[in-house]
Amino acid sequence: MTTAKGIQKICVAHGDGIGPEIMDATLHILKAAGVPLEFVPIEMGEKVYLSGNPAGVSKDAWAEITKNKIVLKAPMTTPQGGGYKSINVTLRKTLGLYCNLRPCRTFAPYVSGKASKMDMVIVRENEEDLYAGIEHRQTWDSFQCLKLVSRSGAERIIRYAFEYAKANGRKKVTCMSKDNIMKLTDGLFHKMFEEMGAEYPDIAQDHMIIDIGSAKIAASPERFDVIVTGNLYGDIISDIAAEVSGSVGLAGSANLGHEYAVFEAIHGSAPDISGQGIANPSGLLNSALMMLQHMGLGTYADSIERAWAATIEAGIHTADIYRDGASVQKVSTLDFAKAVVAHFGKSPQGLKLMFAGCTTALPMDLKKKVASSATFGSGKRDLVGTDVFLYEPKLTANELGAKLKASTESVGVGYKLQFLSNRGMVVWPDGFEGTRCIDNWRCRFLNNDTAKVLSGADTVRLLGVVQSAGFDIIKTENLYNFDGVAGYSKGQGEG
Ligand code: NAD
Repeated sequence: MTTAKGIQKICVAHGDGIGPEIMDATLHILKAAGVPLEFVPIEMGEKVYLSGNPAGVSKDAWAEITKNKIVLKAPMTTPQGGGYKSINVTLRKTLGLYCNLRPCRTFAPYVSGKASKMDMVIVRENEEDLYAGIEHRQTWDSFQCLKLVSRSGAERIIRYAFEYAKANGRKKVTCMSKDNIMKLTDGLFHKMFEEMGAEYPDIAQDHMIIDIGSAKIAASPERFDVIVTGNLYGDIISDIAAEVSGSVGLAGSANLGHEYAVFEAIHGSAPDISGQGIANPSGLLNSALMMLQHMGLGTYADSIERAWAATIEAGIHTADIYRDGASVQKVSTLDFAKAVVAHFGKSPQGLKLMFAGCTTALPMDLKKKVASSATFGSGKRDLVGTDVFLYEPKLTANELGAKLKASTESVGVGYKLQFLSNRGMVVWPDGFEGTRCIDNWRCRFLNNDTAKVLSGADTVRLLGVVQSAGFDIIKTENLYNFDGVAGYSKGQGEG
């Protein structure tokens, strides 16, 4: 929101732990630079949680966010247990912040890190994957967390990564996934990367399995330019990248959607150093610089970044990056901020600016460009079977398989019991005897008459038979073919 005097209002959340310390330092710099912003404080975090609000965001905070659209946010602590939901995940999903942008670069030789060359931007999908937060305890022994990936979600984050590369003169986009194991979910992400990539022939592109990709970020980060990946992988690799660059306290991030944006450091509330005034405010300051760029206030971002880089070059460092012999002066959080202000008007001699001329607000009409969403649902989606999950703590695989087969075969439910699997591994009718089984069994039933088209009523009938035979049903997953292609994975070890 912009006031009559042309001052834009933004929301400011001071956070928990080191949050208030690094926020005060960051605001000190922004105010000294005269940025035309009014900072509206909002309440979210531990205090709000502990007042009985499980979401951790006050009503007034939501009202201000809705009005002002932009949030500068310090890290928050999510209390353990008690059903408290992460504020970050809530904000990202409620505000449609599908993209998490995390630039990471080396500041060598002024900050000693593990890499002397490194300048990468991690584009992390921000709303889906395991962070959907859908978890269940199913039996005494088993717990599950659902990994959700949508075609439209993958498409827009991958397109953002390519558009970002194009707009910012980046040369290469690397996709990271684990599609050798998760062939449907991560397989979709990889496939969308190849499909989208074909529209950007001028940008080099490759794919890496996330495990080796993470190792390469740690060992040879200079080989990466833009990386696009899923939510959990992106979270992990951005901490690796930040740590390799010198400190997790240096990196900032932008959470971007079509209407709202939240800017925050990538690190957490660091309870181990909270209250000591020694935290590095650079991660939050770098987030604020991205915010200024995003809001069209690039000239302010530019002059603050110059002063910040000059301060780093002068060897004025907070404890996390201070090194005897290499650094000159160890300073507190606030004194670092004051040193940055004292360097206003100066420019770095060696450090390249990270945000100058960069753009995060891309001129892309995603609604039009994510065209495939519009064609969803036009093909053939056939029900071909169902996986029934049973709680059974006593029977062996052979006993359960024989009993379930006999109970369902005789009543002609339209389904044939194909296999039982336990923790994904097929254990009946053919299985390895030594496979350890827990009390949660997946029982795959397939259509036993391919001439017949199954419907939901067949599934309900099957479940009725299974239930009446005394089995304890946990849940079901229907199996569909999409235009003749199986939309479900085979059992591990299935013939
Ligand atoms: P953390 O990032 O808070 O701390 C990890 C390590 O890095 C600690 O040793 C810490 O001292 C150090 N560190 C972090 N930021 C620093 C800085 N600016 N300057 C110097 N050193 C810094 O991770 P954690 O300990 O796993 O998490 C602590 C809490 O933060 C948890 O409650 C977690 O849920 C929360 N968290 C919040 C966010 C967020 O709000 N965006 C993100 C991650 C974690």
